[in-house]
Amino acid sequence: MLAASDTTARLLRDNWARVCEQVHDACACAGRDAQQVQVVGVSKYVPPDLAGQLFDAGCTILGENRPQSLWDKVAYFQASGRDVPAACLRWHLIGHLQRNKLRRTLPMLSMLHSLDSLRLAEAVSSEAHSIGRRLPVLLEVNVTGDSSKTGLSAAELPAILAQVDQLTGIEIKGLMAMSSLAASAQEARHEFEQVRELRDQLQQEFHGHVTLDQLSMGMSGDYREAIAAGATLVRIGSSLWEGILEP
Ligand SMILES: *Cc1c(COP(=O)(O)O)cnc(C)c1O
Repeated sequence: MLAASDTTARLLRDNWARVCEQVHDACACAGRDAQQVQVVGVSKYVPPDLAGQLFDAGCTILGENRPQSLWDKVAYFQASGRDVPAACLRWHLIGHLQRNKLRRTLPMLSMLHSLDSLRLAEAVSSEAHSIGRRLPVLLEVNVTGDSSKTGLSAAELPAILAQVDQLTGIEIKGLMAMSSLAASAQEARHEFEQVRELRDQLQQEFHGHVTLDQLSMGMSGDYREAIAAGATLVRIGSSLWEGILEP
């Protein structure tokens, strides 16, 4: 159920301010500059008008996990006069992109977090190339080898990075990961550290070919651990919708 709309805008502004403050505090605790961490506001739980209100509250990077929902929201934003330049509003796809949805999705995206196969990398690259773009992407990695999770295993990453000079339509910016479902804070921290270490290794190995400076990791429940481990993008959903979406 949705709360009355006049209070929704206020709640969203409060939630957005609180999330920013929490991320700021987590950076301070980790001895990191808060400028190094950006919040992706995950709007997948809500209808387009609420995503619009989140943008109005100050969130300029919106994350969706399904291409179809992304299309609907982008269409709503255009229809509602929030057809702002890509520099002011960036859409990130954080869930799997099916190859048959590529053509329609790609022009809307500022970043794809969930590149999870060489085949998809090739398809995204050639599509982006054909529209004169070089799309920033992250390789989604599953460091724990947990079969319930999506993403590439650590062992599969070098094969993709070895192709990077051929993949001219994409720019591999870093890695994306999720902690295991039942992970404690300590376990989540350890998994995020593993992702960072993997990044550091790959960065050395492919020195001069890629700059893997982005780490997309951390959600509402584990952003602190992710920031402590070096996250540069945290994907926050639930915390932003507290009091707005009833359970
Ligand atoms: C839903 C989702 C999030 C947001 O998770 P919350 O726990 O609601 O903050 C982050 N990343 C991905 C990939 C998601 O699908």
